[in-house]
Amino acid sequence: MKYISTRGEAPKLTFEEAMMTGLARDGGLYVPETVPTLTQNQIAAMAGQSYEEIAFTVMRPFIGDTFTDDEFRGLIGAAYADFNHAARAPLKQLDNNHFLLELFHGPTLAFKDFAMQLIGQMFQASLTRSGKRITIVGATSGDTGSAAIEAFRGLSNVDVFILFPDGRVSDVQRRQMTTPSESNVHALALDGDFDDCQAALKDMFNDFEFRDGVNLAGVNSINWGRVLAQVVYFFSSAVALGAPHRKVSFTVPTGNFGDIFAGYIAKKMGLPIEQLVIATNQNDILHRTLETGAQVKEGVTPSISPSMDIQVSSNFERALFDAYGRDGAVVAEQMEELKDNGAFTISQGAIEMLRDTFDSGRASEDETYATIKSELTRSGELLCPHSAVAVKVADEHQGPTPMITLATAHPAKFPAAVEKATGQHPPLPPHMADLFDKPERMTQVPNDLAALQSLIKERLNT
Ligand SMILES: *Cc1c(COP(=O)(O)O)cnc(C)c1O
Repeated sequence: MKYISTRGEAPKLTFEEAMMTGLARDGGLYVPETVPTLTQNQIAAMAGQSYEEIAFTVMRPFIGDTFTDDEFRGLIGAAYADFNHAARAPLKQLDNNHFLLELFHGPTLAFKDFAMQLIGQMFQASLTRSGKRITIVGATSGDTGSAAIEAFRGLSNVDVFILFPDGRVSDVQRRQMTTPSESNVHALALDGDFDDCQAALKDMFNDFEFRDGVNLAGVNSINWGRVLAQVVYFFSSAVALGAPHRKVSFTVPTGNFGDIFAGYIAKKMGLPIEQLVIATNQNDILHRTLETGAQVKEGVTPSISPSMDIQVSSNFERALFDAYGRDGAVVAEQMEELKDNGAFTISQGAIEMLRDTFDSGRASEDETYATIKSELTRSGELLCPHSAVAVKVADEHQGPTPMITLATAHPAKFPAAVEKATGQHPPLPPHMADLFDKPERMTQVPNDLAALQSLIKERLNT
C-alpha cells in the first residue's frame, strides 16, 4: 500500500512515511493509491465485536508492513484503554430513526482523541524503532491541541508545541493545554486568530531548512493517520444498526473536512452508506460550495461552535482530487487559485460527483441554541454546540434510512453556550473535576514566524 499526493508531484510514500510527514512537499495531502474494500461477509462479521477488533479489521489493509498484526493490535488496545466508555463510541437513540454517535468519551472529551490517541501510539512505536526524535508543531482552535498534548505528553522522543489563538479558546480548552506538567509540552498563546496560527504552521512546513533541522512532524487533521483512525466508528456504528444488511446515513459537524472524509472512505471500502451530510455553522463555505459549484472565501464570523469556524477546509482537497479523477495538476491549479484569489470554480463533472456523494446543510447561531434546548426535551440528551448544528441538519435530511449524527464534543467543553440554551451547567466528568485547581503554564508569543522558529529551536536545546 502506497500513498500519493493530491497535487501529483511529491514522491509516493509508505503508510509510516505518510504518517510521519503530514503535509506533502508539493503542498498536497497524502491519500492511498487505491482504497481497499471489505466484503459484505467481513462487514457482517463485525456484529457484536469490540471497537478494538473492528478497528483492526478496518485499518489493517491500509498500514502495509509498518506494523505486524500483533504490534498493531497492541497499539490499538493501548490507544483506547483510557476511554471512559466500554463501547468507546456508544450510540444513543434521539428519535424513531435518528441516532447519536457519542465520540466524546476520550481523555479530552472530543472526537479528536480517537485519532490522536492512536497516532500517539503509532508515532511512539515508529520512533522507538528508528531512534529518531521529532518536533510536533500543531495549530488549534481548541480541541486538536488538547488531544495532541494528551497523546504525546511525557514521550521521550517527542517535543510538542501547540499554537492557539490567545484569548479565543474556552477556559476548559485552554486549561487542558496549559495544565499538563511534562517538560516536552509547550503551549504557545499566539497574538492572533486561528487562521494566523494555521498560517504560521504552514510557513514552518514550507521552510525546508527549519522543517528538516528540527525534524518537524504534523498532527493536524490533514495527517492521513488521523483520517484513517476516524473511519472505524463509521463501521462500528453502522454495523450496530444492521449494516451491511441495512443501509445507514450519517450527518457530520464539519470544519476541516477530516471526519466527513473518513465517512467517504468507509463508503468506498464497501460500507452501505446512503447519505453523507455535511453540517456547517454560519461559516458555511462548504454548504455554499455544494450549492453554487464555486468555493468562495468569506471572513470567519466567530460562533458558539468554534471548532467549525473555518475558511480553508483543508481535507476538502482530498475529495476534490477524486472528483477530478485523481488529476493532481488540476487540483494544484485550483488550490493556487484559492490562495491567490480566495475563490475557485469547480468543473461541471467534478461538482456533479461531489453532489452525488455529499449532501449539506447549515445552522445559524439561533438554530443551534434552539436545537440544544429542544433535544434536551426530545431525548434528554445535552448536546455540545457542534453536535447541535449536526442534529439540526440531520433532522432536515431524515428519511426512511436510519440517520446517525456524530456528537463531536462533550457539552462540558462548551458550558457557556449550553447553559445559555438550557439553563443547565454541564459538569465536567469526574476524571477532569480538578482541572480548575491545577497551575497553568504557557508562553505568550507574537505573530511572527522568525520569533516562533527561534523560540522552538531554543526550547529544543534546553
Ligand atoms: C475538529 C472538530 C470538528 C470538525 O471536524 P473536522 O474533521 O475538522 O471537519 C467538529 N466538532 C468538534 C467538537 C471538533 O473538535
